[in-house]
Amino acid sequence: MRPIKALINSAALRHNLGVVRRCAPHSRVFGVVKANAYGHGLARAARALEAADGLALLEIEAAVRLRESGYSRRIALLEGLFDSSELPVAAQHDFTIVVHNAEQLRMLDAAPAGARLDVMLKVNTGMNRLGFAPAAALAARDSLLLHRAVGQLTLMTHFANADDARGVALQMEIFDTFAAGQRLERSLANSAAILRFPQTHADWVRPGIMLYGCTPFADTSAAELGLMPVMTLVSELISVQDLQTGARIGYGGAFEATQPLRVGVAACGYADGYPRHAPSGTPVLVGGIRTRTLGRVSMDMLTVDLTGISGARVATPVVLWGEGLSADEVAIAAGTVSYELLCAVAPRVPVIELRESTPPAPGAA
Ligand SMILES: *Cc1c(COP(=O)(O)O)cnc(C)c1O
Repeated sequence: MRPIKALINSAALRHNLGVVRRCAPHSRVFGVVKANAYGHGLARAARALEAADGLALLEIEAAVRLRESGYSRRIALLEGLFDSSELPVAAQHDFTIVVHNAEQLRMLDAAPAGARLDVMLKVNTGMNRLGFAPAAALAARDSLLLHRAVGQLTLMTHFANADDARGVALQMEIFDTFAAGQRLERSLANSAAILRFPQTHADWVRPGIMLYGCTPFADTSAAELGLMPVMTLVSELISVQDLQTGARIGYGGAFEATQPLRVGVAACGYADGYPRHAPSGTPVLVGGIRTRTLGRVSMDMLTVDLTGISGARVATPVVLWGEGLSADEVAIAAGTVSYELLCAVAPRVPVIELRESTPPAPGAA
């Protein structure tokens, strides 16, 4: 077997849900499991997040699979329905659907007689991506409150700047003005808002990235937030080379040795989801020791500096990110965010759940 794997630590996922609970003790939690649970595997994440009050994702097919596997708590479809043909399915499986535009509002008229769906009305408070402008949202709210096919109505918005210096104040003001005087449940907070802005917590929070042990912030690490990495992308060295001064590495010869150099080749490349744009110097762990990548990332391989790692040989473990090296750090080096790295792990990488360490049975040898 090619040695690359994504190891999933479900105990860390549960721990991170605990961090959400401590931050927002009075809110219920929709665990966000879109994009195959940020690359961690939907079914596995759903099991680890059984203590959450609900799960939120995008595709109705994935939501149906979740129900069919026995998941009985709330399931929210964050982009709502894409077509009215999905409506009977959503009703049958008791999905909570976001309604963010007039077309989706009209789709509800096609609901089968007797069907009732819980709805999250999405208000655009400044993200300017999905949702009704506040004035139109008032009219949408009124028609949803009267609609025969609508069960519980929740008011919802999404923040554009909860992770940066702009914060949530402007959007909160617009949302509060819109929601004032209404006895409807509210849902606003993503991970960044959960961690920094308690005034956003309301009835339902919607954590994503923090559940997976990464930080939404550029200035605060996951470890500082008490989060544990869930995925460790690990492979092995498949070659060790001794290079002379002046030797160049990989396609384009982008890295040149300025002194004799021992390097290793790890079985991980951009076809595994490792970012091709990660430059020389991107951090990596070889045999548990922190070192750097050298040269361009290839489709199936990348090269690492073995200076000071005297025991490194073929089959020495290489951690691309996860335990001991946050995906956030690798993302910064590659000019992206951990969200993208986690979601990009390719289907060819086997995803394996770490065995939970169980204490030995009494009397066991
Ligand atoms: C993805 C998403 C979230 C979770 O965001 P994080 O930054 O990963 O916590 C919350 N709400 C909505 C509507 C989303 O699309």
